[in-house]
Amino acid sequence: MNVSLRFAMSLVLAGLLIFALLMSNSLLLRSQQDALSRLNERIINETSRSAQRSLSEFLAIPERGNALMKVVIESAEIPLSPDLAALERPMFDILTQTLTEHAALNSMAFANEKGEFIGLVRKPDQRDFFLVLKDRRTQHTFQAYPGTVVSTPSLIIEFYDPRTRPWYQLALERGKPVWSEIYNNAFNSTESLMSYATPLMNAKRQVTGVLVSNLQIHRFNQFLLQLPDLRNGAIFIVDEKNRLIAHSSNESVLQVQSSSVTKQVSRKLPSQSDLAVVRAAGRYLDQNLQRFDFLLDGEKIYGRILPLENQNGLNWRIVVLLPENDLIGTLKQEQRSVIILIFLGALGVMLLGWYFSGYISWPILQVAQAAENFGNAPMQNGWQPQDHRGWQLRETAQLTRSFNRMAQQLIQSFRLISNQMRLDEVTGLLSRDGLRTALENWHYSAEHKQLMLQIGLDGFRAINDSVGHTVGNMLLSSIAHRLQHSLPPDVLLARTAGTEFTMLFPKVDPTEMGDLVQFYRDSFVTAFSVASADEIVVPASVGALYGHFELTQFDDWLRNASIALGQAKARGHGSSAVFESEMLEQSIARTRLTNELKLALEREEFRVFFQPVIDLATGETIGAEALVRWQSPNGMVSPALFIPAAEESGLILPLGQWVLRDACRQIAEKIAQGWRTDFGLHVNVSVRQLIQSDFYEQVRMVLAETALPANGLTLEITESCLITQSEVIVSLVRRLRALGVSVAIDDFGTGYSSLAYLHQFDFDCLKIDQSFVARMLDNPQDQAIVSAIIDMAAGFDATLVAEGIETAAQADHLRAIGCQHAQGYFFGRPAPLEAWPQQPVRPDIQ
Ligand code: C2E
Ligand code: CA
Ligand code: CA
Repeated sequence: MNVSLRFAMSLVLAGLLIFALLMSNSLLLRSQQDALSRLNERIINETSRSAQRSLSEFLAIPERGNALMKVVIESAEIPLSPDLAALERPMFDILTQTLTEHAALNSMAFANEKGEFIGLVRKPDQRDFFLVLKDRRTQHTFQAYPGTVVSTPSLIIEFYDPRTRPWYQLALERGKPVWSEIYNNAFNSTESLMSYATPLMNAKRQVTGVLVSNLQIHRFNQFLLQLPDLRNGAIFIVDEKNRLIAHSSNESVLQVQSSSVTKQVSRKLPSQSDLAVVRAAGRYLDQNLQRFDFLLDGEKIYGRILPLENQNGLNWRIVVLLPENDLIGTLKQEQRSVIILIFLGALGVMLLGWYFSGYISWPILQVAQAAENFGNAPMQNGWQPQDHRGWQLRETAQLTRSFNRMAQQLIQSFRLISNQMRLDEVTGLLSRDGLRTALENWHYSAEHKQLMLQIGLDGFRAINDSVGHTVGNMLLSSIAHRLQHSLPPDVLLARTAGTEFTMLFPKVDPTEMGDLVQFYRDSFVTAFSVASADEIVVPASVGALYGHFELTQFDDWLRNASIALGQAKARGHGSSAVFESEMLEQSIARTRLTNELKLALEREEFRVFFQPVIDLATGETIGAEALVRWQSPNGMVSPALFIPAAEESGLILPLGQWVLRDACRQIAEKIAQGWRTDFGLHVNVSVRQLIQSDFYEQVRMVLAETALPANGLTLEITESCLITQSEVIVSLVRRLRALGVSVAIDDFGTGYSSLAYLHQFDFDCLKIDQSFVARMLDNPQDQAIVSAIIDMAAGFDATLVAEGIETAAQADHLRAIGCQHAQGYFFGRPAPLEAWPQQPVRPDIQ
């Protein structure tokens, strides 16, 4: 997963904040809930108690009314028979003035033992009363009047005896004030009443009449509904039989079961209430509990059961039901708001964190982005630090600065390195890689052919060795300068190797090609003048490649031009060659041979053969020439085949050294076994060996190791190397000769300009090339040359060896014209020493 620093920081901040706030909030909540449940308890207790109190007060009204009437009657000694007129006034006053507000008090009445009756009944409009009478004035019929005075009756009932009414009976029976059961109104069967009856007694404690105050039961409901703090709760009252007396609802507690004849009115049980909460609470009534709670529709309801009793026979219970929401509803709501606030706060903090962490992450991101750009293309994009905002954190500013510095330094290094790679330090020309890069933007014509010239300096190493490195470099530089000044536009020039310059012409006609090759070959005929040094002639060979160039074939072109150059060099100094496909094949064959030679060297497949050198005067063997042989798995291979390849590949160096050591060792052993100590060993050395700076040291070491006397060793140098390597070789030859080693010039007479250089050398021996010897007897010209060489050798005070004597006639002739030594199949073929005759060499004559 990959999350940004910014997001992570904001998230952590917000998370911490939420955690902290929720923790503190939940702690708070717990203590709040403790407080809350106490508060709940109190609220419900108080509600219950206030309901209980209110109901008690409600029930106290009839009791008070009766008590007042009783006081009035007894203190005023109002006559209670046969006419009850004197009761009208006080009864009216009590109802309308003393108990005005208690509309529940429906009616008040009095009946004496004779059945006379007076009552005031509240009208349905609740404000006014009407009078009911049954006394002497009404001829003992029951009459009801529209007002509170006797007038035309609105209702007359013949046979109404109050003494049969439940309240009268109860008071008479008990002899003290008493609450009646709930009963049906005599005049309206759908109305339930409850009466408080107070018996009046004479001195003999005989009941003389009964005062009654009536409560309409349905008023209880209204009363309960008016109770404060109920809200979504409910209250209900049940009697001792658990029948509903009232509930906080507008529905009646009465139920009417009517048949065709009768109409039965009864009170509902709580389970029959229209209020669900009352129905649910009903089942707790039988359990004799004071408190209970239950769930209704997922809401918790708390319930309380309180007694409502008095000495007057009342034995009810009040049940108060309050839903939890009413108690702590707001608090829960607040709690929710607090949590929402916490989350909003956290969101705010997260946004703030997001905003401010930008100051940290932005520079880091920028550095990272820059590093990436930089990594992709350091030279193009560079690194441009931008000032982000007004301020930055010290750490990130430091990071930006450090990266900036590093980038700048890297760019500088890159530039340097890439320049170094593109340009050649010595000449300022393009390097090989630089040429490759330059070719990407090089314009050349696809319709025409292109020409690549490779100019190789011949023998530059020797020049370098003689004039020193610094002057050598200056020489290279002035060669580059000369080449550059001769260049037409759009021609690329590069120094592709140490002594190799390459030119690429974008458009060359076939007729122009030869001229161009000629021109650049000739431009090396004139000497270069470098600083204090003398004018130096640097011969150069030119390899040419002509065809349709393609960028993808750049490497092939370089290789083929180089092959052509190699061919040119093989033709001799100052030559040129145009590439042909056979050259490639030869080159491949040479490469294969080179690899085989390398293996042969590792597997020690080379052997040294020796060919005797004879003193023509005496016929004695006075020395031998070491000639290397390759015993390859396919048979013996002639050195004429592999020596050129070994020279070209450089393998001649280890091979030549091995031959020198092995030959010296073998001959030294023979001398130790009794051969003459002045036995002359000839070893061929290649020019490449000679120009090695440590060649002298190698020879010295081999002599020391093998204990071969220095004056017993002659190094054979081909005539051709006298021409090019003069300076180096002259001094080397001088040192070798000082050591006691002799030097022979091999194949003398084959090099056409060799005579001009001969005088520079102090050599000890000339070897007449076998081609002269072979032709000498048939060709007077060759005979003359051989004679001349013999005279010349005498002039130089050098010994002479004639090579390739195959016949006795040749030997005789050479002896006759004064040639001292000879070599050839006539005397002996090259062979391993083991194959030599037992005693070919005469021991020293001491
Ligand atoms: P070279 O130095 O002129 O050696 C003389 C060559 O003439 C030898 O050929 C030898 O076998 C051959 N030869 C000797 N007598 C006669 C004869 O009567 N008639 C004919 N036709 N040939 C005769 P080889 O051994 O094949 O060597 C060829 C060349 O290879 C040598 O010519 C020499 O230039 C080179 N070479 C041989 N061994 C070495 C070596 O160890 N180092 C170097 N640098 N070159 C070597
Ligand atoms: Ca030789
Ligand atoms: Ca030779």
